[in-house]
Amino acid sequence: MESASVPSNEHASTTGSNANSSSVRVKCNPAWNHVTEELKDEKSSYRCIHCGKSYKGGGINRMKRHLAGIKGDVAACIGVPYDVRFQMVENLKEISKSKEQTKKDQEASNYSPLEDSLEFEDV
Ligand SMILES: [Zn+2]
Repeated sequence: MESASVPSNEHASTTGSNANSSSVRVKCNPAWNHVTEELKDEKSSYRCIHCGKSYKGGGINRMKRHLAGIKGDVAACIGVPYDVRFQMVENLKEISKSKEQTKKDQEASNYSPLEDSLEFEDV
């Protein structure tokens, strides 16, 4: 007489709720699509892929102004396509807009709401 007891795995509950928050730093600046970063003497320089000019330091935002053709601390790019230049100009506009918005939000949140500390209890 053989009695084979087969364990049933029907009630194997697998809770697959594994919140895995991976923080990946992404260069989301659109200017990176048109600029390559090079390290020279432990200093980063940025080379424009459209005109080949490289600028030391200043950051990616200066390169964005270079691509957008906004003169100031950088020369305007002579090789950037019109649509890319337009994209950079729009991006710079959005950033200046959002900066103003956060400024306004901070000013608006400066007031502290009065707390109602009056409590009536029926005894
Ligand atoms: Zn350029």
